[in-house]
Amino acid sequence: MPDLRKDPVSQRWVIIAQERAKRPSDFVHEPMGEAPSFDPFAEGNEDKTPPEIAAYRDRGSAPNKPGWRVRVVPNKFPALQVEGHLNKRGDGLYDIMHGLGAHEVIIETPQSVPSFTGLPDAHVLDILWMYRDRLLDLQRDMRMKYGLVFKNVGASAGATLYHTHSQLICTPIVPSIMSIKTQSCEAYYKFHERCLLCDMVAQELSQKARVVADSGSFLTFAPFAPRFPFETWIVPKPHSSHFETLGRVAMEELAFVLKRVLLKIEKGLEQPPYNYMLFTSPFHTGPSEHFHWHLEITPRLTPVAGFEWGTGFYINPVPPEDAAEFLRGVKV
Ligand SMILES: [Zn+2]
Repeated sequence: MPDLRKDPVSQRWVIIAQERAKRPSDFVHEPMGEAPSFDPFAEGNEDKTPPEIAAYRDRGSAPNKPGWRVRVVPNKFPALQVEGHLNKRGDGLYDIMHGLGAHEVIIETPQSVPSFTGLPDAHVLDILWMYRDRLLDLQRDMRMKYGLVFKNVGASAGATLYHTHSQLICTPIVPSIMSIKTQSCEAYYKFHERCLLCDMVAQELSQKARVVADSGSFLTFAPFAPRFPFETWIVPKPHSSHFETLGRVAMEELAFVLKRVLLKIEKGLEQPPYNYMLFTSPFHTGPSEHFHWHLEITPRLTPVAGFEWGTGFYINPVPPEDAAEFLRGVKV
């Protein structure tokens, strides 16, 4: 009998269809592809991107020249643009506003590689510091209400370039997924006087079946109601509402944890397409006792089709308990 399970944070239902259970090798996906003959993100091609917004550089190197480790540029084809005013208005019963926002690309290394998992931990740490720096800088703009850092790897996960990179999109409204998450957490807190994600971490630690890795300050686990096979969350164990407030020791640990869980996914599932999304608190909000930041990694091994679009439910053939057991066993 399949399970219908509800994720308490996103309020989404999923169908865990165990009789459709598959082994990791049963999923087919497109290969990662070869390095392109021309890579606009590679060192030496700085003039092929829009001028940089920020970079970690060797001392003495000039902007938009070689000598950088992590480099941020505006997206050449931005979904939203930073200039102008919102001009909120109605058109009859319809709402409309200008597409104001920011859309940045974080080029994670000068090397033409498809993933940062082959880079030293100290370099992954630099990538995370850049996420923090850009979020802190963009939230000084009071027109912006939310910033999402995300990553697409592989064509079917939305990546259009081979060279490893992340993106940051700021929006002038809080996106509906984030609104539902904050409302769920607030409602749970009002009823229980405890944080939902803190309780989730405690329960996952005691039940153990869905834990992938427990590193001290971060718990990596398969959520109870995952949308996708091998969906994995990283949640800080001490309560924290804002990723941007992480200190040096915790950020170092996060770099270690993130790299290793991605290595497990890449090695165990044979370089699958995947996304990750960093859910931190909306901008201009102080420390919150009910929202708890987290990072969601979603391998894209199953298609999203009519049933998912029509119901908001997802069908997942791999129970998270099996996914966690498999990922625990992948040696990296
Ligand atoms: Zn918490």
